[in-house]
Amino acid sequence: MIYLDNAATTPVIPGVVSAMTESLSATFGNPSSIHSFGRQANQLVRQARDTVAKALDVSNRNIIFTSGASEANNQALIGYALANRDKGNHILTTAIEHPSVLNTVQYLRDRHGFDVTFVNPNPDGQFPAQLIEQNLQPDTILVSMMWANNETGQLLPVAEVGRLLASHPAVFHVDATQVMGKIPVHPHEIGADFLTASAHKFHGPKGIGFLYYHEDLKFDALIHGGEQEEKRRAGTENLHSLVGMTKALEIAIQNMDENYQHVQKLNDSLLSLLSEIDFYKNEFGATMPHVINIAFPHQNHDLLLTKLDLAGFAISTGSACTAGTVEPSHVLEAVYGEDSPKLKENLRISFSELNTIDEINAFAEKLKSLLK
Ligand code: PMP
Repeated sequence: MIYLDNAATTPVIPGVVSAMTESLSATFGNPSSIHSFGRQANQLVRQARDTVAKALDVSNRNIIFTSGASEANNQALIGYALANRDKGNHILTTAIEHPSVLNTVQYLRDRHGFDVTFVNPNPDGQFPAQLIEQNLQPDTILVSMMWANNETGQLLPVAEVGRLLASHPAVFHVDATQVMGKIPVHPHEIGADFLTASAHKFHGPKGIGFLYYHEDLKFDALIHGGEQEEKRRAGTENLHSLVGMTKALEIAIQNMDENYQHVQKLNDSLLSLLSEIDFYKNEFGATMPHVINIAFPHQNHDLLLTKLDLAGFAISTGSACTAGTVEPSHVLEAVYGEDSPKLKENLRISFSELNTIDEINAFAEKLKSLLK
């Protein structure tokens, strides 16, 4: 089976497995305990925090470990909105965010009375900073924008929006889940006040991620209880997953340039291998090379996906969170409209550095033969 669905999740790499296995057998203490078992565990939590902070070039005081990006997005959005009602009532986001942002701001609208704008892209599918500016209001307290989209790989202009917001009271939340470990991610450089990521997108374990927050921000905790994470996220730390995330991040950063170039090569080679057949790309401006969202006119994607699966190739139509349901992609719907036949044609092929050129050749061959 050849795995080309890395935007959904990535395989855990051997270095991560061994670091986790070692910590599972060697370290079982509760990081909050005073005795040496606790101190040993606490040391691992500190190391994890230092590694994440160093990667982001921020202070280690400003990281909250969470169960992944969904929780981190909920924490940032709900936590900030509820604690800052006095500042304003408007929240702005884009129509193509991950459901963990879209459904969270919908919840804030429906259950807490916030006024929410979901900005639709321009006809070319893009979100220039001016479009965000046009939708800002004096009472906007929060702007949430993903760095790269999980269905198309589209890069959003987070640095430009960050600059724009420097002179506006709204705080800026960036969902960096699809770029963390692949390109340099430094919240200060893009003016992000909150930033989210998840380990399983960079070859770490599932169920662990983090939220960076700017230290001046006031926000409520989502999970109440003990005093872990400076009282911002209660519960005994997910120690072994933290070890795995740390290792995965270290490895990703060490090999970042090389990995990126390799993935770019995979992307280029797939497109050139498919050049003789009729396809179009769902590509809207600058895009991460890790994702190709492609379609073959009049070819139903569900059917093609099943045939590819039977032939040993794992790809998807879009986000894993909506896969398995018959709902069309909200991301493509935002560009093409809900009645477009294009919503039944899209396929998402997503690479990691573990994929090989041979795999891409085999995939292209199979796809071409299925389309004939
Ligand atoms: N945001 C984006 C952009 C994602 O791609 C994902 C994962 N599909 C998430 C958030 C949610 O991450 P997690 O699975 O860690 O909750």
